[in-house]
Amino acid sequence: MIAVNFHGNLVDLLSGKSENGPFITFHLERRTSVKDLIESFGVPHPEIEEIVVNGEMVDFAYIVEDGSQIEVFPISSQSNFFKPSLLRPDSLEFHRFVVDINVAKLASKLRQLGFDTLLPRNCDDAGLAAIAGCQRRILLTRDRNLLKRKIVEFGHLVRAEFPNDQLVEIIKLFGLKDKIKPYSRCFLCNGLLEPVAKEDILPFLEPLTKKYYHVFQRCLDCKKIYWFGSHRGMMDAILHEILALC
Ligand SMILES: [Zn+2]
Repeated sequence: MIAVNFHGNLVDLLSGKSENGPFITFHLERRTSVKDLIESFGVPHPEIEEIVVNGEMVDFAYIVEDGSQIEVFPISSQSNFFKPSLLRPDSLEFHRFVVDINVAKLASKLRQLGFDTLLPRNCDDAGLAAIAGCQRRILLTRDRNLLKRKIVEFGHLVRAEFPNDQLVEIIKLFGLKDKIKPYSRCFLCNGLLEPVAKEDILPFLEPLTKKYYHVFQRCLDCKKIYWFGSHRGMMDAILHEILALC
């Protein structure tokens, strides 16, 4: 008999197999790694901070034996992604994201706050997982099977349904509040913005923009022009509202 105890918000992820809440007991039917065992209950491995078997911390490749007591702890706002751990010896250097198309609006919102965020289009699950793994990005998705892919080390199953709530969820979980740099990145393409003199872009401005606005930025990549006007005032208000919830 094996006993598994899921802690914290991992309980919300448990699939129908668990009728006894966070405590699950069962007979082991085949040789399996602890990663595969945990994921068979619906919990993708990037959601896990620590696994303890019979009082000892183990990694994802640990082969489970009958009679084991397994404790599974979640990633939380207290987790440190920049410090090597047993489950993730190769820690992160930056908060950089890759976002699944099923939470696409979250990508532009993260970019508006200055976070390096990719939103690959026409990319299958294998491609998305490879970008997360190879570029060491945090994968954000609502597809838990995508998160179960081994190459994905850092990721999160987005719980909230609406984009602003999703943004609050991500800011809180990854402790991003102090790292926000609004208006530093293009929300269309993820390129960095640079200040640009009005006289250098006059031919690209609409007559009213030309008349009323004087401070501009331009995306280094797609060349989209941004100006400090009414749009920015609206964005400031939304940002203020979101940060108040974080
Ligand atoms: Zn751009």
